[in-house]
Amino acid sequence: MSESPLYAELAAQSLQLAENGLTRRRRTLDAPCGPLARVDGRDLVSFCSNDYLGLANAPELVEAACAGARVWGVGSGASHLVSGHMRPHDDLEHQLAAFTGFPCAVLFSTGYLANLGIVPALLGRGDAVFSDKLNHASLIDAVQLSRADNKRYPHGDLDTLERLLASSSARRKMILTDAVFSMDGDLAPLPALLELAERFDAWLVVDDAHGFGVLGDQGRGSLAHFKLGASQRLVYMGTLGKAAGASGAFVAAHEAVIECLLQNARSYIFTTGSSPVVACALLASLKLIENGDARREHLRRLTAQLRDGLTDTRWKLLPSPTAIQPVIIGDNFEVLRVADALYQRGLWVPAIRPPTVPKGSARLRVSMTAAHSPAQVAALIDALHDLA
Ligand SMILES: *Cc1c(COP(=O)(O)O)cnc(C)c1O
Repeated sequence: MSESPLYAELAAQSLQLAENGLTRRRRTLDAPCGPLARVDGRDLVSFCSNDYLGLANAPELVEAACAGARVWGVGSGASHLVSGHMRPHDDLEHQLAAFTGFPCAVLFSTGYLANLGIVPALLGRGDAVFSDKLNHASLIDAVQLSRADNKRYPHGDLDTLERLLASSSARRKMILTDAVFSMDGDLAPLPALLELAERFDAWLVVDDAHGFGVLGDQGRGSLAHFKLGASQRLVYMGTLGKAAGASGAFVAAHEAVIECLLQNARSYIFTTGSSPVVACALLASLKLIENGDARREHLRRLTAQLRDGLTDTRWKLLPSPTAIQPVIIGDNFEVLRVADALYQRGLWVPAIRPPTVPKGSARLRVSMTAAHSPAQVAALIDALHDLA
């Protein structure tokens, strides 16, 4: 039987990826998330995860999950609006709202789904979104789904943003930004963005996937880092699969925004409620985040150690103040070669290539966690010096 032409096309696509050094491969881990990863029978020091506080396998979360499963079972059985909204979900929403200083919060199953829910729920045709060009893919997809006009401004370019806002006659406006840019590690100028949002009566939607739990007083996130209080123009999205160590996300905002999401966000309405086990683990995680100054301080020290150790290498470090420390290599094949050489030495650092980052800026994305040791960071610094 001859193969369908559909498959010839897939094969051609896959060849094209390979020729450009863009094929992605998964590795299967045989141990929990942590600084030591076990792959193919080898132990590797991993600088890949977004588990910034080292909570993904913390005993407190594991215990809370086990205890939660005994009380609540594993599945929620339905969407939140039908019968899948359980006491642990509700408690968590209240605690997250209080923790981030907003009147109200709602849980989503993932950050991707939260973003896909927010933009189309609040905006439609004839409205306008103003997005930073380096925004996360989930925000880009969300704007497309909303059918609102998409005005993109160059990364961090407040003058262009102001011009675009001033010339817009859209009824509803929304500024959309990562708080910590996921592939560069830098912070959005949130105070200036909020000032523009107030001045032009726009919402400012802040995606704090990489700031929640890590930045600000007690890990309250990027808004707290900039000492910004809750404003009715702010919509805050935090994810729970990175520093919080489990999975999920939440949106915190004015009651009317949260009510609008409950009624309209399709990625909320048409999906099964997340497991109550995860909510139980997250209630424990929130306590550790709140009392996590020692973890955050250790993380800051390790990050400074890495930056100090790499000041004089051939490859450029971006000016990132966060746990995301990209080493820019440029070429797709060279970044793969370097990542591979590190891997051979037992150091696992992901090679990030287009389309995740702009062409010609392929990079190693080193991410530090509070579970790493200074010796592990020193080993990475030494290896990078050798390879450069
Ligand atoms: C990881 C990430 C998301 C998606 O969150 P998930 O919970 O992993 O779906 C959204 N925005 C940014 C900036 C991210 O880095």
